[in-house]
Amino acid sequence: MTAAGGGTGDCIFCNLSAPGRSELILVRGRVSFVILNLYPYNNGHLMVVPNRHAPNLATLDAEEQVELMRMTRHAEMALTEAYAPHGINIGINLGKPAGAGVLDHLHIHLVPRWNGDTNFMTAIGDTRVLPEDLPASAAKLRPIFERLHRDDV
Ligand SMILES: [Zn+2]
Repeated sequence: MTAAGGGTGDCIFCNLSAPGRSELILVRGRVSFVILNLYPYNNGHLMVVPNRHAPNLATLDAEEQVELMRMTRHAEMALTEAYAPHGINIGINLGKPAGAGVLDHLHIHLVPRWNGDTNFMTAIGDTRVLPEDLPASAAKLRPIFERLHRDDV
C-alpha cells in the first residue's frame, strides 16, 4: 500500500466505507462505521473507522472527532452487553512500528478481555479465534449497535 494521499483503491477501509453490504459491518454513522476485525484477537474484536482516508487524529475534522468517540462509546456498551468481558482494550496503532495492520487509515481497536486470557494467548503464540465465529458475532452485536445508534444520534 502506498503512503498517504486520498483513499486509493487498495485501501481496505476506503473500500468498506462505500455504501453497500458487508457481513462484517455492524453499524454505519454519517462519517464513520464499526466493523468486526477479520482476524480477531478475541471474540468481539472490532474497529471504529472514519469513512475518510485520514491517517491520524491530527487530520480529523470536528464531526469525525465527535462521531468516532460516540461510536467508540457505543462499541464499549455493545461489547459489555453482548459479552460481559472482564475488561476491554481500546487503542490506536499509528504507523508500522506501532503495529498498524492497515497503514494511513486510522482505526480504533476494541478488544474484549477476560481474566486469564493473556496467559492463554501467550501460551499458544499467534493463534487467534477462528474467523468462522464472525457471522455469529455480527448477529449478536448488530442489533445492539442499531439500537444504541437510533437512541443516541
Ligand atoms: Zn483508506
